[in-house]
Parts: sequence; structure tokens; C-alpha cells
Amino acid sequence: GAVIGILGGGQLGRMLSVAAARLGYRTHIFEPAANPPAGHVAERVTTAPYDDLDALRAFASAVDIVTYEFENVPTSALDAIEEIRPIHPNRRALAVSQDRLVEKAFLNEIGLRTAPYAAVDDEQDLAEAIEEIGLPAILKTRRLGYDGKGQARLTTPADAAHALAAMAGASAILEGFVDFTHEISVIAARGLDGSVAAYDPGQNVHHEGILRTTTVPAELGAAQRADAVLIAGRILNALNYVGVIGVELFVTGSGLVVNEIAPRVHNSGHWTQNGCAVDQFEQHIRAITGWPLGDGRRHSDVVMENLIGDDIGRIGDLAREPDVAIHLYGKAEARPGRKMGHVNRILRRES
Ligand code: ATP
Ligand code: MG
Ligand code: MG
Repeated sequence: GAVIGILGGGQLGRMLSVAAARLGYRTHIFEPAANPPAGHVAERVTTAPYDDLDALRAFASAVDIVTYEFENVPTSALDAIEEIRPIHPNRRALAVSQDRLVEKAFLNEIGLRTAPYAAVDDEQDLAEAIEEIGLPAILKTRRLGYDGKGQARLTTPADAAHALAAMAGASAILEGFVDFTHEISVIAARGLDGSVAAYDPGQNVHHEGILRTTTVPAELGAAQRADAVLIAGRILNALNYVGVIGVELFVTGSGLVVNEIAPRVHNSGHWTQNGCAVDQFEQHIRAITGWPLGDGRRHSDVVMENLIGDDIGRIGDLAREPDVAIHLYGKAEARPGRKMGHVNRILRRES
């Protein structure tokens, strides 16, 4: 069978490797850190930094196709690989989602709503941005932020200096605070032939910037549900995308607002492992290898709960509960804020 190269060896790479194995593929992980979670299930691991172009070229030569589970892979790494093997999703999808400023401009360009935003590189930019956008607002680093890291909330003008200091000199954007009722996400996929499939939107609850739970179905009317899926489809087509994407949306009284996109399988799509015949990981492997896409239909309602840090201590109790599917990432050390695993609680419908 063919070998799929995956940039990034975290839990997403691990679950992609499991799905690839189910379809008869082998995986080869490229990951800078030692002993990555995906390394336990992949056939091969290359341990090297993303700026080691020789290591990247050797990795590319050893596989048939390359994908990634991490959106902060430098585009220079993709450039080196692209000369040797195809990469999905493409470079533009990665570049757009890596930089919040480029991402928002792209979304607006294709007719989608985002929070109002402005680029902030210094004190004067910030003062002007606050003037234009108003408060409350959120200052975010343009690059490398995840799980709410690299963000500062501004409620009064007096918060500005502190917020800017928290960026530590990194380029930032100021986003107007979106007055949402709840947060949802759409996990969707586009195949090599341009066909698109989407899962039902999930409703997300965050705590301290980290996803805690995703519940399907989300509280949405039929029109909102259709709108959410159409938004994802528009993004996929505009990027000529191949693979699975995660689109985070705010639900507001006046429609859906796009928060951000992730060019990969997404934490809020883990419910598909126990709610659908074809989960997001298999869907991604199908998409990038040219298989027909699964249709994404949900056979069960599910609540996905992340096990973060010490939550892992609850695993004994969770294991005794009926209808709880356990997914652990094989991480040795439970640090605060570290995603150790998740559970999918399958909600039985009255029949
Ligand atoms: P992820 O781990 O999802 O990549 P991230 O660090 O990229 O997270 P965001 O998704 O931008 O961060 O923001 C984290 C959370 O903060 C959002 O899910 C939302 O709850 C809140 N948030 C972010 N931006 C805004 C906004 N403009 N208005 C209101 N709330 C916001
Ligand atoms: Mg993000
Ligand atoms: Mg987010």
C-alpha cells in the first residue's frame, strides 16, 4: 500500500494514522519533537525541525503523498516538499489560515462575515484600531496562536498598553468583540474531484480558551444549518481545497460570523468517530488519496468532551459508563492545559 507522509505528530496525526491504516495505507510522520503521540501508531517517524530542508526532502522522497495535521508548518517546508510530492491541502490554504490578517481579508473577499478587524504593529496602530472598532475588543497575535494563547481582551482604553506588551513585539490584529449566542463549527471535506461533503455543525463550549465540549446536533434552525454548511463549501471551493477543513463560526442574532478556519482535521470534529460511519480522519485520508468521500451523515447524537490535564484522572469512572467511547493519545505526562484524550458520549434516541 501507499505511504502517506504527515507533517506533525500530535494526536491529530495519530488518529489520521489509525484511519489510514484502516484503509490499507501506511504513514510516515515528520515531527520536530521526540516521542510524538502519532509515532506509536505510524510505521515511521522522522525527527527533525521544519527548517531542515534535507530532512524534508528525504521524507518527501520516502512517501507517496504529503498532508499535515498542524497549520503552523512553515510554508518554506511545503515549498521544499512540493517539488517532490503532492501536498494536500495546498500551500495557499495553509498560508491563509496561518495569519489571522490574511485569513480575515480572504474571508471578506469571498463574501463572508468576520469580526471587524485592523492590523496592529505598534501603539499608534492600536489607538487607531480602538478608535475605529470600539471596545470591547480582542488583540490577537497574527500568527502561531492556539487554544486562546497570544490573545488579550480589552475592555477599557487603559487595557491597551498591557495588551500590546503581551504580544511581545509580534504583529497582531485587533478584533471587535462579536456578541454571539453560541459557537459552532462545521467540519467539511473536498475531494480531488471537487466534490464536497459536510458533517452536521457541532456546538462548541470553550473554557479558558480551550475547547471543552462539542455537542451534535447544535442548536440551529434549518436555515442556519444550511448556511453554516454553505459557508464551509464556499471556503473549500475558493481555496481549491483537498482534504478536511474545520470552520469555526459565531452564531449571532443577525447571522453567522466566521471566527477562523483550520486547514486540517479539527478537535470539534472528534465526535464523528462515534457519530458517523466515516469519521473526519477517514474522510481526510479518503479526500487526499482520491477515494469517494463519505457523506457525513450522523447516525447518533454525541457529546464530545476533551480530557485536559488532570481530567485524565476521571478515566476509570468514564470507562464504567455505558455509551462512552474513549480515545486516549498516549501522552505520558498530564500538564495543565494539555489535551490527553477525549470521550464521545453517545446519546441514545428514544425509539
Ligand atoms: P483554537 O485553539 O480554536 O485555534 P485560537 O487560539 O486560534 O483557538 P480563537 O478561536 O481565535 O483562538 O479564539 C478562542 C475563543 O475566544 C473563541 O472560540 C471565542 O470563544 C473567543 N473569541 C475569539 N475571538 C472573538 C471575538 N472576535 N469575539 C468574541 N469572542 C471571541
Ligand atoms: Mg485557531
Ligand atoms: Mg479557535
